Order: sequence, then C-alpha cells, then structure tokens
Amino acid sequence: MGKVSLVGAGPGDPELLTLKAVRLLASADIVLHDSLVSREVLALISPTAKIIDVGKRAGKKLLTQDEINSLLISYAETREKIVRLKGGDPSVFGRAGEEIEALRKAGVRYEIVPGITAALGAAAAAGISLTDRRVASQILLSTFSRGSDASAMDWGCVGSTSTLVLYMPGADYAEVAERLRDGGLSADLPCVIVSGASGPQQEIRWSNIARLASEEKLPAPALLIVGRVASRDVAEIGKPFWHGEKANRISPRERVV
Ligand code: SAH
Repeated sequence: MGKVSLVGAGPGDPELLTLKAVRLLASADIVLHDSLVSREVLALISPTAKIIDVGKRAGKKLLTQDEINSLLISYAETREKIVRLKGGDPSVFGRAGEEIEALRKAGVRYEIVPGITAALGAAAAAGISLTDRRVASQILLSTFSRGSDASAMDWGCVGSTSTLVLYMPGADYAEVAERLRDGGLSADLPCVIVSGASGPQQEIRWSNIARLASEEKLPAPALLIVGRVASRDVAEIGKPFWHGEKANRISPRERVV
C-alpha cells in the first residue's frame, strides 16, 4: 500500500514551495493536481511520474470529487508515492477534508504538507501586513456561496479590528460589494484586489467598498483583502476610522489613534 501526500503548491511562484514539496514532487510515482497549480511548479515533477490534471476550469469539472477520491485510493493500491497537489495550502478551501475522510475510511496512509495559501501570497504581493497591530488583531479567511445557498455573512467585525480575505470573489464586483455592505461593512473601508499573486501575470488594484463595483475585472485566480490594512496609503492605516454605528459602541480607549 502506498502513501498519499496532500501537498500545497503555494500561490504560483515555485520558489514559494516548501523543500518537502519539492522533494516529494521530484520522487513521486504519480501526481494528481488541480488546475490552479502553476506550470513552473508542475515542471518540478519527476519526469517518470504519471501526471493527472483533476482540476476544474470555468465550472467545467474534469472529474467529480468522488472520482478523485476513488482514484487516490486505487492508485494507493498499486503505487508507492502518490502526490495530491493543490494550489496554495491543501487545507484552505481545498476540499482536503473529503479526500482525508475517504483515505481514512479506506485505510490509506496520508500526510499533509502545508503550502503558502493565496491570502499570504496576495498580502506579500501587495506589500501589506494582514495583522498590522494598529488596526487588525485577527484575519478572517472567507468566501461566500452564491445563488440559492446565498446567506448573509457576518463580517461586521472586519472594519474595526479584523482583516477579511475573500477567496473566490468571482467577476461580479458589484455583487461582492453588495454582499460586503449587507455583511455590515462600511462603504469607505479600503480593499485591494490581487490577481495571480506571485506569478508572472500578477496584478494589484487598490480600492474601497464603494468603488469596488466599478473597478476593472482582474483575471482569475484573484482574491480580495478587505480592511484597514488594505489602505494604499500607509499613513492612513494608523488614523482613527469610524465604522458606521459600531464605532459608537467602541469606548474611546479602544479606538486606534
Ligand atoms: N487552497 C488554495 C485556495 C483554493 S480556492 C489556497 O490555499 O490558496 C481558489 C481561490 O484561491 C481562487 O478563486 C482565488 O480566490 C484564490 N487564489 C489562488 N491562487 C491565487 C493567486 N495566485 N492569486 C490570487 N488569488 C489566488
């Protein structure tokens, strides 16, 4: 029986891979990867390894999650070193949970090799600190569901004390802005859109929630960092910020000056 390594491929730049990821890619018998994994990272896979793209592109699924789970289990019966390569970190919006459950049920050995999640790659690209101690004491990694599953998110804490990183924001920035407003965020809260973080096509747009709807759409993969740390002008970060009604509930001592 082989072992499955759930490996994080990071946001794109191969230099952001862990040494362990590089070693596992170079010695793998088989690699099953998502479409998010960059070409430069795929180039590090052993030339003798079988490579399978199990990714999804533009909503068109190549393989279902159940099919991927079955593939991992069946390859574990015949191969020794199986790498399940995922963009960023396997445990952040990577559906690793379902794969781990299937592997456990089948009695297949597995390990998780963390990678740099897109939020961290994007913050580095924008040159900002997600937990600038003057304005943010927590980070919320989030996404929202669309259509019939859509539910109001409670992002009310974001403006005053937290940074929100919104994965998979999609191309409809007007909808995103509306959802952020519905979630309790103030229109003048800064945000930055980062596309293709750490890769050759990287793009960065500084904005705020009010202007977001009219921003030019950046290509996928992209995410949104929302909060006072996302201010382009670093001098703005330390200034007092009145976060709608909530600001009135903050005692003067808790205000950031
Ligand atoms: N497991 C991944 C996330 C998968 S969900 C991780 O830890 O990063 C896919 C979403 O991640 C994309 O829709 C986008 O919002 C974000 N993403 C992935 N790579 C990115 C990149 N290089 N730049 C910006 N956003 C990225």
